[in-house]
Amino acid sequence: MYNMRVLIADDDIISRGVVKALLLKWGYEVLEVGDGNKAWNILKEKDSPHLVLLDWMMPEIDGLELCRRLRQSGDNTYHYIILLTGRDSKEDIIGGLNAGADDYITKPFMPEELEVRLRVGRRILDLQQSLKETLEVQSYQAQHDRLTKIFNHVEILNILEKELDRVGRQNGNLAIIMGDLDHFKKVNDTYGHVAGDAVLVEVAVRMKNNIRIYDSAGRYGGEEFLLVLPGCTTEEAMIIANRILESISKEPVMFNNIPIMVTISLGVAVNRTGEKTKTTELVQLADAALYKAKQNGRNRVELVF
Ligand code: GH3
Ligand code: MG
Ligand code: MG
Repeated sequence: MYNMRVLIADDDIISRGVVKALLLKWGYEVLEVGDGNKAWNILKEKDSPHLVLLDWMMPEIDGLELCRRLRQSGDNTYHYIILLTGRDSKEDIIGGLNAGADDYITKPFMPEELEVRLRVGRRILDLQQSLKETLEVQSYQAQHDRLTKIFNHVEILNILEKELDRVGRQNGNLAIIMGDLDHFKKVNDTYGHVAGDAVLVEVAVRMKNNIRIYDSAGRYGGEEFLLVLPGCTTEEAMIIANRILESISKEPVMFNNIPIMVTISLGVAVNRTGEKTKTTELVQLADAALYKAKQNGRNRVELVF
């Protein structure tokens, strides 16, 4: 939600006082400053007021320049700016709106006019806010797996690609782990698909509990997982993979008070340091390692160079 705070920037104390009294009466919180520099310092802050009443002529930075700066700064918060000024020619109004103001009120003004124009501003901020929230939800849904809440197939590969690119430039290490639950079909056949889903959710949790915050976990396919571990050497990746293996096999997943034992096979692959390793190439290596783990009896970790 946007805040109900209003910033008044006006070098005229009397005019500022009048506006402030009105705003307080209408239930706004008020911050006031007497020059453009102070206004700019407040507006740059993260939690700045979203509604802004700017005088045009002010010392240091004038209202128009402030509008331009705010619009160029490209920060995330939208500031709804009303220019409040004695300049009332058509050219001035055009100039003010061109600089990035949302609205324009000429002094002297009727209190009712300011009141309704602020309400218009809040309507815009409301719309802007709900649009932002919708976009955030959509972007989350586009990147995450609905069941397990970890990254989905497309996103984990995007992350891998980006990280490979980065470590390629920095001569760094990167490891990936490909995991596939063992005989998972049997879990579904024995306990039902809902139980199978619960196992997948719990496995994702255990994986996340065993990686570092800058690692990423994704659901690669049905009961397949891909972990991206930037900065990890072969040895470190093997340790993490074995930790995951143990955390999954050691304790059953409880579903409706029924313990379900599951195991996982894991394949580890690492990039070639100092060269640019391709995403598909690395995934294929991890896949081959996973296949080897299945071949060698499941519930184990294998590595392929
Ligand atoms: P393996 O050890 O060789 O990997 O055997 P497996 O049974 O795990 O492998 P297979 O590929 O034959 O079967 C995978 C099973 O995973 C079949 C499918 O129904 C199940 N599965 C895939 N996605 C989901 C899901 O979202 N929920 C549930 N409950 N099961 C799923
Ligand atoms: Mg499987
Ligand atoms: Mg599978």
